[in-house]
Amino acid sequence: MRFWEKPFGKEKPKTICGEIHIINDRCKGCSFCIEYCPRDVLELSKDFNKKGYHPPVIAKPDLCTFCGLCEMICPDFAIFVTEKEEE
Ligand code: SF4
Ligand code: SF4
Repeated sequence: MRFWEKPFGKEKPKTICGEIHIINDRCKGCSFCIEYCPRDVLELSKDFNKKGYHPPVIAKPDLCTFCGLCEMICPDFAIFVTEKEEE
């Protein structure tokens, strides 16, 4: 006898992961993407870009959920995300 069912009779959907792309030399080091990322995926680089700012680096790539917030919030279009291909 079964006492439970899968919701809607379906398998659990796969979690979507994002692949982050940073265009370092467009960045002005405002840190918006770092501060507002809900999963703390990004952190500030110790290196400088051509403009003399610290761009973000990807600290925890596996935690990115492809929410797109960093892309939306960046005032200089210096970061964008794509859906990660299944391995
Ligand atoms: S897409 Fe979302 S989770 Fe991924 S780095 Fe950007 S803000 Fe963070
Ligand atoms: S929001 Fe854009 S400009 Fe600001 S630190 Fe992030 S990538 Fe650089």
